[in-house]
Amino acid sequence: MIEAPPATLRLAIDREALAANWRMLDAMSGGARAGAAVKADCYGLGVEHCVPTLVEAGCRDFFVAHWSEVAPLLEHVRAKQIAVLHGPINRAEANYARQTGAIPVIDSIMQAKLWTETGGGPCHLMVDSGINRLGVALHEIGDPAIQALNIQVLMSHLACADEDSPKNEQQLAGFRDILGAVSHREASLANSAGIALGGAYHFDLTRPGLALYGGVPRTEFTDCIRQVAYPRASILQVRALEAGQTVGYNATFTAPAKMRVGVLSLGYADGILRSWGGAAFQSGEKVLPILGKVSMDMIVVDLAEAPNLAEGDWVELPYYLPYAARQTSVSQYELLTVLGHRFQR
Ligand SMILES: *Cc1c(COP(=O)(O)O)cnc(C)c1O
Repeated sequence: MIEAPPATLRLAIDREALAANWRMLDAMSGGARAGAAVKADCYGLGVEHCVPTLVEAGCRDFFVAHWSEVAPLLEHVRAKQIAVLHGPINRAEANYARQTGAIPVIDSIMQAKLWTETGGGPCHLMVDSGINRLGVALHEIGDPAIQALNIQVLMSHLACADEDSPKNEQQLAGFRDILGAVSHREASLANSAGIALGGAYHFDLTRPGLALYGGVPRTEFTDCIRQVAYPRASILQVRALEAGQTVGYNATFTAPAKMRVGVLSLGYADGILRSWGGAAFQSGEKVLPILGKVSMDMIVVDLAEAPNLAEGDWVELPYYLPYAARQTSVSQYELLTVLGHRFQR
């Protein structure tokens, strides 16, 4: 194999911060233990980079959405520690669950029947307490197909945990009501934001995702959750602009005077969306405003504050998620999961 040269865009992952975030969320979960939502390739940061760190920090319970996400995880954790949130929707998926040993989350009476018909065994059960996405309705809990399951973790999912909404208490009450109606070993309700809602929401196991990776879904996390992902790009080319020259597609930026600009090697194909237009990169304390539109593979920045920067130098996109989300009007979740495959992680 011919080795490729190093990438010109990097996503630095602060593993220390990731481990510290998990330990913080575990501690904030009180008597419950924290698991980890590692779906969508650890929210875009990379299973191979994040899961070993989470395991080392002490995490034992991992949640993915799709069956396709099981195999990459199996390189790092035991099958029994993996829960698949979408559950089995056909025999192929039920068989795959059994062959791998990953635990299906049963989300409907249909899935419950399918799981039992194809051999049964340990599973989790998702009950829908008000988000109306996946999960068995509260009133369906007595159904014989549900009662026949061998349920390890009985779970539900909060719709508005990142807000102070009456919906949180309503969902909590609905969930508590059915706990006695079906046998199970453990219960789980809280995502990242739900952990901050207090002890009543913790039960046996919490399921943080966003906050592990540096997201701050509620102000309670502001001082205790650390940034994990740092996008960086190198300067491909330095250009001199004359007054009146324009930059990028549709010529949306016109140089008011002579300018020195840098062309960076990343763009919206890497998840740095056009909504970053008007924001800035940085080099240490120096601010490098983005000029014109973000292209697929390139972003042009003003080098006025950093005249010493040259081709090959690295600059950073400020990616502290609560600020970045405000800056771009893109959610903290999306800001993580859009980060593309060309970053060297
Ligand atoms: C994604 C997900 C989580 C994690 O949610 P965050 O808001 O990222 O902490 C927890 N539980 C379920 C069912 C999920 O789908």
